[in-house]
Amino acid sequence: MMTRKLPIIAVATASGKGGVGVIRISGPDLAELTTILLQKSLEPRQAKLLSFRDADGSVIDQLIAIYFIGPASFTGEDVLELQCHGGPHLLALVMKRCLELGKDKGLVIAEPGEFTLRAYLNDKIDLAQAEAIADLIDAQSEAAVRGAARSLQGAFSADVDGLIEEITQLRILVESTLDFPEEEIEFLENAQAKQRLQAVSAKLSSLRENAKQGKLLRDGVQLVLAGAPNVGKSSLLNRLAGEEVAIVTPIAGTTRDRIKESIHIDGIPMHIIDTAGLRETDDLVESKGIERSWEAIRLADLVIFLKDPNSNQTDELIDGDLKSQILKELPPKCPVLEVINKADLLAPELKKTAHEETLFISAKTGEGVDGLKRKILEIIGWSGSQEGAILARRRHLDCLERAAEHLKKSEVFAANGNISLELFAEELRLAQDHLGQITGKLLPDDLLGKIFSQFCIGK
Ligand code: GDP
Ligand code: ZN
Repeated sequence: MMTRKLPIIAVATASGKGGVGVIRISGPDLAELTTILLQKSLEPRQAKLLSFRDADGSVIDQLIAIYFIGPASFTGEDVLELQCHGGPHLLALVMKRCLELGKDKGLVIAEPGEFTLRAYLNDKIDLAQAEAIADLIDAQSEAAVRGAARSLQGAFSADVDGLIEEITQLRILVESTLDFPEEEIEFLENAQAKQRLQAVSAKLSSLRENAKQGKLLRDGVQLVLAGAPNVGKSSLLNRLAGEEVAIVTPIAGTTRDRIKESIHIDGIPMHIIDTAGLRETDDLVESKGIERSWEAIRLADLVIFLKDPNSNQTDELIDGDLKSQILKELPPKCPVLEVINKADLLAPELKKTAHEETLFISAKTGEGVDGLKRKILEIIGWSGSQEGAILARRRHLDCLERAAEHLKKSEVFAANGNISLELFAEELRLAQDHLGQITGKLLPDDLLGKIFSQFCIGK
């Protein structure tokens, strides 16, 4: 990961038009560069309205400039913010002129995530907080915003640091007894090592639960909707989408996936693959979409097989052998939920004789759809509470899981009659290492580059 000291510049606001567009510059010392760019020096933290001029002296924009002296800034370096009018061509012109003027001072365009990386490297935020910035900006729901905000304010990091601290105390205890083997067991008993270890494990598992909920909020689930033609898949999709469909309209500039629809149920993003779109096609764009759908099926969290008992079509008639093909591609242990649609056409007696677990719905009238939603949430393990959920990533869950495994092993060593203090201490250390990777205290080098390269430019 490059860690350069040059001043960097980028447009910080979204591309496209807007009332205001912000250009951000960060560097170890921007005093001289500021004077070069703006033809005057600025009082720190005071908004200054001024004219920004092109090489020929003509005014490009009237803008507001604010100068922050490091370390009291976002990146921890000096930061200059230029609040221009928000037109893409205007911002490009201001950027171009800045780069010309700042060339001798080494001013360069920022890499993706470089502002946040500098904030991280200058200890303004830890790694989990840096990730929370990206997640906050990318958040797909209000609940996701709240979860990311909690992480950014350090709630997640504080919990992780608290665990690390408690494990450190335990390690100090254990390692200080290593030199006195004959007193080991007694010593640990007196210090209640086992109880303390159990308390740490309990805290870790509740943190894991919160993080799992947060991962659901952040990433949602892949839900495959399958069934024979005309069983009502599209109708159910529309019904589930309900009024939320407006929120999921595609972001400008991206084309909407034909057969993948994203909706929210109780704030959880559901990425639904309608298998009706999986038919063979000669259309190149469509076949790309189909390939992506098969990829999604391989990652499915849940499959719903929709049936229409009023039709004489059997499951196997789902587009020939599509059902067996889908079942074959599903990840191991992927839950499969069978749902009977068009219940409005069914005789009530028939519903009574069915197995009590059978889900009857009507995409047409909405009957049973709330029950279906509840069932979906239950299967994916959503607790129904957004409180305390931390917007966690796969990476965080992996670290928490590894840490829990090592703690468990250490418990075994501690519980053993012929206790091995060395192994006990080693497992504690490993648990601590994995926790430290969450906040970045202990991080393999290549990981840092991977994490920050996923940011877009200007962050
Ligand atoms: P798909 O091919 O599986 O996507 O099925 P559609 O959603 O296109 O529905 C096929 C037909 O069944 C349409 O005429 C729908 O109006 C009808 N339909 C869908 N769901 C219901 C339902 O719950 N009750 C009734 N009576 N008709 C339904
Ligand atoms: Zn490990």
